[in-house]
Amino acid sequence: MPRKYVYSFGEGAAEGRDDMKDLLGGKGAALAEMCNAGIPVPPGFTITTHACTLHRDLGTVPAEVSRQIDEHLALLEERMGRKFGDANEPLLVSVRSGAKVSMPGMMDTVLNLGLNPKSVQGLAKSSGDPRFAYDAYRRFIMMYSNVVLGLDRAPFEAVLTTARRKARRQSDSQLDAKQLEKIIAAFEKIVRDQTGKPFPRDPHAQLRGAIEAVFGSWDTERAKHYRKLHDISDALGTACNVQAMVFGNRGDRSATGVGFTRNPATGEREFYGEFLQNAQGEDVVAGIRTPLLLAELESILPEAYAELQDITLRLERHYGDMQDFEFTIEEGKLFMLQTRAGKRTGIAAVRVATDMVDEGLITREEAVIRVEPVQLLQLLHPVFDPADRAKYEVAARGINASPGAACGQLVFTPEDAVTEAEAGNKVVLVRHETSPDDIHGMHAAVGLVTVTGGMTSHAAVVGRQMGKPAVVGCEALRIDTARERLQINGQTIGRGDWLSIDGTTGEVILAQVATMPSEVVQVVTGKLHPSKSTIFAAFERLLDWADLTRRLRVRANADTGADAQMALALGAEGIGLARTEHMFFGADRMPKMQQMILARTEPERRKALKKLLPLQRRDFLALFKAMNGLPVTIRTLDPPLHEFLPNPTELKVEIEVLKATTKTTGKGKQAKAAAAELEALESVYERVLSLSEINPMLGWRGCRLTILVPEIIEMQAQALFEAAAKCIATGVPVDPEIMIPLVGDAGELALQREVVQRVAGEVMRKRGIHITYKIGTMIELPRAALTADAIAEHAEFFSFGTNDLTQTTFGFSRDDAGKFLGHYVDQGILPRNPFVSIDREGVGELMRIAVGKGRTARQGVKIGICGEHGGDPQSVGFCHDLGLDYVSCSPYRIPVARLAAAQAVLHERGVEELRTRARKNLRYKTPPTYHGTARGSTD
Ligand code: PEP
Ligand code: MG
Repeated sequence: MPRKYVYSFGEGAAEGRDDMKDLLGGKGAALAEMCNAGIPVPPGFTITTHACTLHRDLGTVPAEVSRQIDEHLALLEERMGRKFGDANEPLLVSVRSGAKVSMPGMMDTVLNLGLNPKSVQGLAKSSGDPRFAYDAYRRFIMMYSNVVLGLDRAPFEAVLTTARRKARRQSDSQLDAKQLEKIIAAFEKIVRDQTGKPFPRDPHAQLRGAIEAVFGSWDTERAKHYRKLHDISDALGTACNVQAMVFGNRGDRSATGVGFTRNPATGEREFYGEFLQNAQGEDVVAGIRTPLLLAELESILPEAYAELQDITLRLERHYGDMQDFEFTIEEGKLFMLQTRAGKRTGIAAVRVATDMVDEGLITREEAVIRVEPVQLLQLLHPVFDPADRAKYEVAARGINASPGAACGQLVFTPEDAVTEAEAGNKVVLVRHETSPDDIHGMHAAVGLVTVTGGMTSHAAVVGRQMGKPAVVGCEALRIDTARERLQINGQTIGRGDWLSIDGTTGEVILAQVATMPSEVVQVVTGKLHPSKSTIFAAFERLLDWADLTRRLRVRANADTGADAQMALALGAEGIGLARTEHMFFGADRMPKMQQMILARTEPERRKALKKLLPLQRRDFLALFKAMNGLPVTIRTLDPPLHEFLPNPTELKVEIEVLKATTKTTGKGKQAKAAAAELEALESVYERVLSLSEINPMLGWRGCRLTILVPEIIEMQAQALFEAAAKCIATGVPVDPEIMIPLVGDAGELALQREVVQRVAGEVMRKRGIHITYKIGTMIELPRAALTADAIAEHAEFFSFGTNDLTQTTFGFSRDDAGKFLGHYVDQGILPRNPFVSIDREGVGELMRIAVGKGRTARQGVKIGICGEHGGDPQSVGFCHDLGLDYVSCSPYRIPVARLAAAQAVLHERGVEELRTRARKNLRYKTPPTYHGTARGSTD
């Protein structure tokens, strides 16, 4: 018995079933499901994904598949009482692609297939409407030529435009049969001229061409790219649906439209959509005519409207999800063409999921699995006011590094950002790139834009941590620092001009676009009472359900009390990374830090560190207080020292200017002062040069620095334990963890551990207070991962620093890789940016080794992740699979991680399978009747 490649559907029964998506594709399975429930669907058949795979392998449709297609076509003719190509009452069909998951690049629908000079007469006769018949024919030639033969639409459009002009008509629907006949002749000529062959007139040849084009579209570049991005196997293939035509363009009692069972923007329960009277589906999509809102259908065709509402709500209940549907009404009779889960905004996703739990349509677990974790960001970040946004064009696009919309006046330096912010102005800081030096300006600005950099560049990391919108790697920008001007794709603006950015999309707009704070943030910051926000209530409920499900703990990367509080409000269960270097920036600290670095002797250095100690203690106190007994991981100094020092070129310029403009010799008071200044500058310059490195990210940083200069880590440990002691003394519980960065060898950690333990002992003795604490390390070098067993002997916890681990595993500079990573992903060398989502095969494998070795050497070693990946849902899923204890991410990503961690558990349990079993019965009351003399129902 040959394999079955074609499945029929229609008239209240189908050979296929809804759980056959792999074989019938999403559309085919939904059509089968509707048919089996007795919902009116025009009859037809689905050619399976297996047939597509065979076509792919053999380069042609195999004979057995063709035989089964012919057999089902004959069955369809019999059911419809019409024949393909008939001169009296022809059968016409639509041909649509339908993979398991819908994807861009797949073939567009072809309607009215089966028309030729003979059958168009038949259609004119059987419908009694020649204009309708010729209109269908001209649409068919245009669509088929474009979609199947691959011809440009423009010459066809030009023929239509000329015909309308000549006939003095506004729209195509006003052209009469004679005019349409001429258009058809002109269309056929275009096809002959461009392909060297006549337009296919044999309906069977037309059908074969369309089916082959559907199968061929599985391998378009766009489709392949999409599959790569979304981990969809190339081997799946697409199904192809051939369906009897029903006509929405048979007069005013006919219509076609699309809709949603709820509002896809807000999630509200309203029947939402649009339709066109006397039109075919392509008119709605093409936007040639302005459609009417679905609500208006009620007064125009009340019965069809009521039936549509009844059917779609049943579908929604059955699938337990908001449906996006397509329908056609032919002379008052409703037909469903498609139903599927509707795309929606983050707000709508959360609202629909929680509402559906209340309505008893889905379980809480299903609600948790239903919302895409990153969609939650849309509920947290400021947004452009949509009405205002619609007024402006996008000037340039960069990498959408930190989400949210911001609008401010352009500044080029962090100093200007601070000055303007202090004067009450909102500014957007535009830099070629940012460094830790700019942090005060980044704080002051409402948004950040950089010309270079990628997702883990400094601006991106800090932007996300601060919850500040950032667009990075916006290479279309040209900064003219001297003239304080910015060029973007031919336009020039200057300091103080308005600039708006959307870090969610990467858009830069040269105008003042109004923004709105998100409602959820207003609630968590205490500006809006929770009872006033339905979206906050839904957000909180969904995350409460996620918390009950997840195993992974979720912590925050936070360096300040304010960040920590925000993190806590968003559900953080501790701090997984406080980057202490961020605490040394700012006008009050930087000079002290520089003094420490420039010191030539240990006593000099200790003197400078003494000044930093109380400031650092205050920082830690704020973190401990905010977290009130939750774990707080404080990392000792990590970046290379040059990041805290002036730029050597700028210093040299300053020295030369001083020499040229001031008298630095002689005995006068002024000359003496100038000479002293020059000497100081030259000494700094010399020290800066001696500290400069060719490759600082792989140079003297992390523990390599604090091993050679232990005074630094001593000061940091002292500040930490003194802050902890103070908390304990005042009744605030603490759970401190001190983390050593960039360890590559167990010996490094052993040395640093000794220092920390010694200082801890001293503080405890002096204060008479016992402090329980942990010492651990980051695993951010391949060697650390490979020797994790030895390292675990000195570490109570590990935290994967996947930013550096990705950088060092690939040998990609995290600051420079933006230049080529985009191409790598485009060309399919890498499935996605490894700085965004963990590279499972390489970096992930190192993590797996480290977890295994670490746990073998020390049972119960706590393991987490604090690289940017800790807030990426796919990476969170991977961390769950690896059995980590926690993930740590920037405050605004915490809800994302909470939800992703819960989904990881549900995927493990196979909750999607449960859904299929729990389906509500869809059986529809009214058995459908079809246009024509329907026979041979298989029901
Ligand atoms: C990391 O490398 O992943 C990390 C968290 O440290 P940083 O980004 O500060 O280097
Ligand atoms: Mg690191």
